[in-house]
Amino acid sequence: MDIKRVNKEIAEVEKTIRRTRKVRANEKLHVGVDLGTAYTVLTVLGEDFRPLACKMEFAQVIRDGLVVDFLGAKEIVARLKEKAEKSLHTSLTHAAIAVPPGTSKADSMTHAYVVEGANMEVTSISDEPTAANEVLQIQDGAVVDIGGGTTGVSIFKAGEVVHVADEPSGGTHLSLVLAGNYGIPFEEAEQIKKDPKKAKELFPIVRPVFDKMATIVEKEIQGRDVDIVYLVGGTCMMPGVEDVFEKRLGIKVVKPDNPLLVTPIGIAKSD
Ligand code: ATP
Repeated sequence: MDIKRVNKEIAEVEKTIRRTRKVRANEKLHVGVDLGTAYTVLTVLGEDFRPLACKMEFAQVIRDGLVVDFLGAKEIVARLKEKAEKSLHTSLTHAAIAVPPGTSKADSMTHAYVVEGANMEVTSISDEPTAANEVLQIQDGAVVDIGGGTTGVSIFKAGEVVHVADEPSGGTHLSLVLAGNYGIPFEEAEQIKKDPKKAKELFPIVRPVFDKMATIVEKEIQGRDVDIVYLVGGTCMMPGVEDVFEKRLGIKVVKPDNPLLVTPIGIAKSD
């Protein structure tokens, strides 16, 4: 994997969070909707896959990959679509989505109905690690996705997913630990967790949770001939995560500059 290319690609999408780019006349768009435990992200790429817009919202409408608040999820997607359409001056008619590996057909369809409920045709449903690999473009190694609710481990061999595991340990657990430690509400803990100025103070408090996540990954990669781990997912935004993993696993750990955006961009690329 060329980390420079990956970081450049992500940085270009990051820019469109603040400032949408122009759509060319009759341009075919690639749209992705990532329905997550913590964030729902809508990414729009142009015909040539250049980033045009990225809209996101924090909401707890999905749990363990399942839609737990259908109406809430539909409203969020509709809102993100409307925001993107307004700034792009065009309508979004279709989108790709992704679900955690192992999601049943029925549960995958519920994800699709959320997006269709927001008036977009669902063009493809991929699994999240495969979507992430649209951006990473790795052949061999483990993609570790630490989102809001879970730590997902996907082992790739020759560009294909050959083993997956998903364990309930994610960013929500970090926030709960911080809320307990400081005696503050969960929402406030979520906010301080994301403050880069606080990272040094907070890290020792949440480190045991990262140690547990690293143990999960260690167990999954054992005996599977993995010599490199790629970190994606919003929880990996926290500085220092990569060191905990590297120490525990004793192999190379690669983290893109903005791990949260890897899967959302990959989903749009799948459209
Ligand atoms: P899942 O993959 O479990 O369904 P998701 O898709 O919502 O959840 P992501 O969007 O990858 O997951 O990550 C969300 C998590 O990342 C949340 O717990 C959020 O608090 C955390 N997060 C986001 N930004 C930061 C940050 N700067 N520092 C630490 N954690 C962050």
